Amino acid sequence: MHEITGLDSMRAWSRAEKGRGRRIGFVPTMGYLHEGHLRLVDHARQRTDRVVMSVFVNPLQFGPKEDFTTYPRDIARDRGLAAGRGVDVLFVPEGKAMYPTEPMARVVPGPMAEVFEGAARPGHFAGVLTVVAKLFHLVEPDIAVFGRKDFQQAMLVRRMVLDLDFPIEVEVVPTVRELDGLALSSRNAYLNPDERRAALALSRALRAVEQAWRGGQADAVELQRRSIEVLKAPGVNPEYLALVDENLQPVARPNARTVVVTAATVGATRLIDNVVLGEGIAADPTVRAA
Ligand code: AMP
Repeated sequence: MHEITGLDSMRAWSRAEKGRGRRIGFVPTMGYLHEGHLRLVDHARQRTDRVVMSVFVNPLQFGPKEDFTTYPRDIARDRGLAAGRGVDVLFVPEGKAMYPTEPMARVVPGPMAEVFEGAARPGHFAGVLTVVAKLFHLVEPDIAVFGRKDFQQAMLVRRMVLDLDFPIEVEVVPTVRELDGLALSSRNAYLNPDERRAALALSRALRAVEQAWRGGQADAVELQRRSIEVLKAPGVNPEYLALVDENLQPVARPNARTVVVTAATVGATRLIDNVVLGEGIAADPTVRAA
């Protein structure tokens, strides 16, 4: 595995590979890798000839009171995991190289970024789309792979690629969970054992909606009401739970493609999760806790 830090070197490598007729898959991350990230690598490897993974904790997408400085980092461990899974290039740009000055021009994501995560984290998606646009220009991939765990983010990236004519296919991979249902997340490292148990309320609430829907309940308001009750577990502060379509618009009569998105705070940690009704949580790939 090569490790590249220079922006020009990254682009030069990609262009050389493409000159040899190779297709490039790209997996952007903020590091502190887990099996969820590595499944994106598996997907990219199946679809392309060379896989680039970036590790960059992007300051632009963190609010002033958020966890940019404390976000978990372990590049030595990431290096081993990425190499072991067949990543060809680990792209680790420095903050000063990505943002030599405070960026003036940024991507404006539009109304889809104002709801749910965007409402809770003002400016978050402008920061995400700006760094993703920069990374796309530096890596010039054929395919970029994102996790459904961050459903709103994946849909916004898809929209940006369409609206701004990036010649890139965006692919979205199902959420990887631990056996008990907890979606893998780098931020799970913040949870103490009690919080870890309480955090299961998110996947339990999503499973409750899915099962009620499968059982014939077709009214979104009723489904939402029932599952919020499940989410209101001790130690859990529910933020939202809603049934939406791929544009993050509320759905009144859910179908198999409807997505249930949720966020809750457990202790000091904000967690998000979602389920596609037709797929369910049980059908998702699971993994044993690391
Ligand atoms: P992050 O490092 O948290 O910015 O995530 C990088 C990529 O990994 C994003 O596309 C996430 O959606 C994806 N990802 C994070 N957690 C999971 C998971 N549990 N399952 C699948 N993909 C994930």
